[in-house]
Order: sequence, then structure tokens, then C-alpha cells
Amino acid sequence: MQLPTKKRSKPYFWATSISNLLGEDKQCRYSVWLNANYEIEKLSSDSDFSAHDEMVKNRARQYRGQGIKVYVEEQNSFHIPGKIATVGGRPDLVVLEGDRIIIEDCKSGKRKNAHRFQVLIYMLLYRFSPMGKQLCSDRVLTGRLVYSDEAIDILPTELDEQFKNSFSQMISMLCASTQPPKIPSFYECKYCNIPNHFCSERKAIEEPTENNDLF
Ligand code: SF4
Repeated sequence: MQLPTKKRSKPYFWATSISNLLGEDKQCRYSVWLNANYEIEKLSSDSDFSAHDEMVKNRARQYRGQGIKVYVEEQNSFHIPGKIATVGGRPDLVVLEGDRIIIEDCKSGKRKNAHRFQVLIYMLLYRFSPMGKQLCSDRVLTGRLVYSDEAIDILPTELDEQFKNSFSQMISMLCASTQPPKIPSFYECKYCNIPNHFCSERKAIEEPTENNDLF
């Protein structure tokens, strides 16, 4: 299978791609490796984010209604360079509440292990962004996962050495020149943005469209 011609000068990862692998909600490391190491034209997505966007707006409205300072989405965007890669992310909300700074992420769909890892990656990296340096200097940084029926706090102690090592090891593995194996599965391939000419495995899991004769 051919590789794209345009290799990035330095691998680039979105926090969500790493959190999905750390949480084992996704198994196919090849799609993350290819996106990180090469510039490719991606397949478009028809995902609907309107419920999520409404949650974020409502949370921001609630905080502002209580006189609490909150930064929303694009304001929180970061791209943090490391020695071997750059990692980008965009926390939904950054909330200044007393002596705490809370990084919140809203989830309108079903719960996944990856969500906790995503917020932990934000907690790990946001402080290195220009805005984060300014806001975190005299505040305790915590995290919060917001579902439609519950908000779960993520304590600073969860940002421990074990998590940091897992994060660093995953990045190192995905920066290696060796391609990870493709691991096709119906849902991962269905929503994967890799075009078929860079991965023929999607075809192997396409659902049959014709009725069979057994039933
Ligand atoms: S199409 Fe499937 S097997 Fe291929 S890269 Fe995407 S998730 Fe992996």
C-alpha cells in the first residue's frame, strides 16, 4: 500500500487521537500514525456536533450568569511543541473559579474511557500554552468531564507519573518510522478519515448490501 508523498517535518497529534488509544476505545494505531506523520487529504465527516455545541454554550452561560470568568473553545486552543512531536488540543471550557482553574470537556454521546485521558492531556499541556502560562501561574489546575446527567471532577493528583509515562510512550511509538499494523473493525473504519487508497482494509469490513438466501 502506497504512503502519502508529503511527510510532515515533525509529527503532529490531536489530543483526542492519543486519548482514544490510551483509553483503548480505538485499536487501530495506523490511522493515528498516518495522520500524525503525513499530510493527507482526509475523508469528510458527517458527524453532528450540535448537541455538544449546545452543552458548551449552556455551561458558559451558567458560569457567566454566576459572575465566573470562562474561556470557550477557540480561546483555549493550543499547539505544544515537544522534542519529537507537536500536540494540539482545544478544551471546551476553561473556567476561573476562585483559586482554581478548571479545564472542562462536554460529552453529549455515550461515555468512553478516552474522555478522562483527553481531559488529563489538556491538564498536562494547557499550562504550556501562552494563555495557560498566564492563567495557571497562581491557580490550582483541575479537570472536569461534563455529561448530560453528571459532572465528574478530575483531580490534579490523577496527573501522575504513570499517566505521563503512558502519554510519552504512546507519542514515541507513533513517531517511529515503523508502521503500526492496521486493525480494521466496523465502527472504527466507518468513521476513519483515511482514504481507501492509503488503507484497503475498510473494504474488508463493509456491510453486505444484498439480502442473502438463508433467511
Ligand atoms: S480504515 Fe480501518 S483499518 Fe484502515 S486505517 Fe482506518 S481504522 Fe484502520
